[in-house]
Order: sequence, then structure tokens, then C-alpha cells
Amino acid sequence: MLTAPPVVIVGAGIVGLACAAHLQRRGHPVTLIDPEPPGSQCSSGNAGMLSRASCVPLGLPGLSRKVPGWLLDPAGPLVIRPSYAAAIAPWLWRFWRSTSMARVNQIANALHALLDPTIVKWRDLAHWAGVPDLVRQEGYAFAYRSREAFEGDALGRRLRQERGIRIATLEGGMVREFDPALSPGITHLVVLPEQGHVVNPLRLAQALARRLSEGGARFVTARVRGFDLADGHVRRVLTDAEPVEAGAVVVAAGAYAKPLAAELGANVPLDTERGYHVMLSEPSVVPRIPVCDGAAKWFVTPMEEGLRVAGTVEFAGLDADPDWRRADHMLGGIRRMLPGLTFGAVERWMGRRPSMPDSLPVIGRAPRASNAFFAFGHGHVGVAGAAPTGEIIAALVAGERPFIDPAPYAAARFA
Ligand SMILES: Cc1cc2nc3c(=O)[nH]c(=O)nc-3n(C[C@H](O)[C@H](O)[C@H](O)COP(=O)(O)OP(=O)(O)OC[C@H]3O[C@@H](n4cnc5c(N)ncnc54)[C@H](O)[C@@H]3O)c2cc1C
Repeated sequence: MLTAPPVVIVGAGIVGLACAAHLQRRGHPVTLIDPEPPGSQCSSGNAGMLSRASCVPLGLPGLSRKVPGWLLDPAGPLVIRPSYAAAIAPWLWRFWRSTSMARVNQIANALHALLDPTIVKWRDLAHWAGVPDLVRQEGYAFAYRSREAFEGDALGRRLRQERGIRIATLEGGMVREFDPALSPGITHLVVLPEQGHVVNPLRLAQALARRLSEGGARFVTARVRGFDLADGHVRRVLTDAEPVEAGAVVVAAGAYAKPLAAELGANVPLDTERGYHVMLSEPSVVPRIPVCDGAAKWFVTPMEEGLRVAGTVEFAGLDADPDWRRADHMLGGIRRMLPGLTFGAVERWMGRRPSMPDSLPVIGRAPRASNAFFAFGHGHVGVAGAAPTGEIIAALVAGERPFIDPAPYAAARFA
């Protein structure tokens, strides 16, 4: 019997951990290399949505009409730090070029194929990691304060419904009947009853890491600097400590994957959309299910350790300091959504989404090395996308056909 080759995974975020889990379950010895503790970066502070319904790309037709207003509003869903405006311009150009209706439908199909099974695949992995209780399927909702705001998201609803996502719209008094905690100012509530969420994303990642360790995985605390390539194969992964021998390599370094992908032959337009959260301990009220503010685009998620308000997009690159005013704006917004809310301590967090301009991750084989694979760029859907991505990567490493066609996620789409 052939033995499964050892696989080195660069990055121990939720994507790298899910890849490692699927590879280990197939019998591969796995080594994860990361300078930071498993799951501690972008994968820790997100909103936790396991949304089968996230088939709607960020870039939609007509967005260019909304963006100027957003940019003028410091509490709006999107800001560009002036010092980063020139650097992000090529990414925004590609983003804009992905907003034709024909391309939006292609992207929505590819996102739907990847994310539709997220809950089933996460239940499986969470069970394997001993934390099935962390995965819930209670639905979530979008809340709007006017008919105009509700109508403004009609295309997103249509894209979802065309792909079989169930949606129920509540208006006026029905909103408060559904959830008395919500403000009477909310005129429309769009409920997506089949959706799931994770009530503690960091604990999920840590549980995967623990289960992987119990199964013999090695965790190396180091930063990967490059690869030792010979005859179209990665032989060793080079780090700022010892090099690590590799039978195969998976690059899952989140927002930091770009130079590593370049060394393996792919010039990908990866950048970061930074997001923020405020975590409120001892909330006096919580919404019945997670709720997204339809205009400001942040999520309110009841979590194990309190109420988390997470979202917003800030283009400022990887290294700039956080602008905590972004988090504080959400704090103002949550008081308007849940008028009776009081709470204890407030914790603020900033994370770097690994974002591609077409809202699709990069999953597949590296051009320059036949034993190297990419799993990064999941943007707003990295938690939901991690379990399906891990399954795809494990199939590709084994030379098998994955459960969906990986072609739409190939780095070659940017060639
Ligand atoms: C505010 C906010 C809300 C969000 N809400 C949701 C949501 O509700 N649902 C959802 O699905 N997604 C959500 N996301 C997105 C999601 O959090 C990310 O897509 C996901 O965490 C990305 O996972 P990752 O493993 O690719 O990246 P990360 O978690 O950032 O992990 C990458 C790892 O690679 C390591 N690394 C980097 N460079 C190197 C190197 N050279 N060598 C070794 N290791 C390296 C890093 O240290 C890090 O640990 C949200 C994000 C934000 C910011």
C-alpha cells in the first residue's frame, strides 16, 4: 500500500487547520508552520457566520453609485485610508471589472458551489474535533430601517433565491413579533432560516489544533520565507528557523500569501479588507438570531463570551495601525438596533481579511510546483469556506477529483 506523503501547511488559520484536518484524516502526516498561535489571526474575531447564502459577491452592478456616499460617511461600510489609495487602485479596478451581471452570475455560482455544503461539512469537522456544540443552525437576518434600504438589496436577494436559498421578509409590526429585542425603527427584516453560525470561532480553531496534535500533527512556530524547489517540486519549506522537509505544501497564509504564491508561479491580486469587532460582555439583551445591519453591513452575533458586532471594510494595507473609530461606530449602531441594550466590558479587535477583487478564493495547484497547492483569499467567507476548501485540497493532494470543479478558484484566472 502507498503511504500518504507528509504535507506542510503554511498558516494555521481556520483554512490551514481545515486543510490539515482533512489531510490527516486521509492518513497524511501534517506539519503546520505559523509564527502565531493557531486560529489567532483573522480567524478569531470574525462574525462566525456559516452562511450557505453568501453567494453574493461584494462587487455588484451599480455599486459605483453607492461607493462615493460610503466614502464620505466615516460610519459607512467602506473606507480607504488616504495613504493606501494609490496602492489599492489596481485591486479596485479589477473589483470594478467583476461587476458586470454576467460575471456576477458566474461568481455567484462558484461561491454557491463552495459554500452551500458549509454546515454539513463543518458539523463533520466540529464533531471530529470534539466541539459539535459550537456549530448552530438557527438562521440569520438582514435588518433595514426604510423601504428604500430594503429595495437597495433586491439584487442580492434575487441572486440567493435563484440558487435555492430560502428567504422570508417580515415588515412593520411583524419584525417585533419575531424578535421584541429589535428596534421599532426596523421596517423590514429579511430572515434566512437555513443559515448557520459558530458561537466561538477561536475555540473552534483551537479544538481543531488540539485534535490535530492528538493525531500526531506537528506545529512549528516560525515564519515561512520561501521554498526550496527542484524539478518542479517543493523539496523543503524555508523558514526563519529550520527548513522543513515536504512531500507536498499547502499555502494557507491568509492575507500574507501573495509573496509565497508568487514564488510558486502565481501573481495574484491579493490584498486585505480590514474589519473590526466590538465584543460586549454581559449584554442585557441579545437578538433571537444573528442580525446584519443591511445598510452598514455589520453583523451582530450572540456568542459564547458575549455579543459580537463585527464587520466594516477598511483598505489600509497589512501594516497600518488600527483605527478604532471604525469599531466605535459599530458600537453606536448596535445601540440603535437593540435599544434596551446595556453591557459590561467592551473589547475591540481588528482583523485582516485575505481578499481577492472578484470575491472568490484561490484554491488549486500552484503553477510552478506540482506538489504545491493554494488555499487562501477567502475574504468575507473564510470560516464558511474553510471546511469545503479543506476537503477540496485533500482530494487534490491525493490526485482525486474534488466534490466540486475547482476551476473557478484557480490562480490562473488572473494570468
Ligand atoms: C470583521 C470580520 C468579520 C468576518 N465575518 C465572517 C463570517 O461571519 N463568516 C465567514 O465565513 N468569514 C468571516 N470573516 C472572514 C474570515 O474571518 C476570514 O476569511 C478567515 O478567517 C481567513 O482565514 P485564513 O485561515 O485564510 O486566514 P488567517 O486566520 O489570517 O490565518 C492565516 C495564518 O497564516 C499565518 N501566516 C501568514 N504569513 C505566514 C508565513 N509567511 N509563514 C507562516 N504562517 C504565516 C498567519 O500568522 C495566520 O495565522 C470575517 C472577517 C472579519 C475581519
